[in-house]
Formats: sequence, structure tokens, C-alpha cells
Amino acid sequence: MSRIRSRGNQTTEMKAVSIFKRYGLRGWRRHADLPGKPDFIFADKKVAVFFDGCFWHGCPKCKLHPKSNEEYWSAKISGNRRRDRKVATQLRKKGWSVIRFWEHSLKDPEGVAKRVQRALESPRRPQPK
Ligand SMILES: [Zn+2]
Repeated sequence: MSRIRSRGNQTTEMKAVSIFKRYGLRGWRRHADLPGKPDFIFADKKVAVFFDGCFWHGCPKCKLHPKSNEEYWSAKISGNRRRDRKVATQLRKKGWSVIRFWEHSLKDPEGVAKRVQRALESPRRPQPK
């Protein structure tokens, strides 16, 4: 459930698409009608990919603290995180593999591509809860 925001003039979604293209990852599409509305799915392999905004989902690495209304924002962010976990469980029950990236991962395109590639190649098996 990432909110796609622009940074510079390229959105998170556009950056992800350009990584998929550059590394030859095929079969993705956007805006799937699934729990949590994954940013991308690879339907054939049942892999759902999310790019979580570092602020909105409380990234521990970037530690983007709200400058005002701290209580409001931290409640909102922990709500997002709770929902992220719930959505992942729902998807896994439906047989999907779930990959979540932090938005900052896009600075490492190769890392993103490799992780997606691995998920696409690994055989599907029941996921532990
Ligand atoms: Zn981050």
C-alpha cells in the first residue's frame, strides 16, 4: 500500500518499471485487484511487489520523523504497518509470494532486480505464517 509520490520528476512506480525493463523482468502488471493493492504483480508466478514509502510505513533506516503533529503521524504510520502485515498474510493465504521494498531500495536497482528475480524463480510453496 505505498502511496506513489514523485521525487524529482520520476515516481516510485516509474523507477520500478525502469528497473524491471533494464533487468529484463517480464510479466508484471500494475493495479491488481488484490488485498492491499500491490504496486506490481507477476501474475504467472503469483508474486506481489510493494514499494513502501519510507515515511508512510516507518522505515527504520531512513528514520523520517514527522516535524509536527507527531502523535497523529505515528498513529497513522503504525496503522499502515499493521495493515501491511495483515495484507501480506491475506495474500500468502491466497498462494501469493509477497515482496516488500522500502522506497529507498530503488537507489540499488540491481538489488531490487535480484530479489524479484529470485522470487520469480523460486518454486511456490506454502508460506509459514
Ligand atoms: Zn527508507
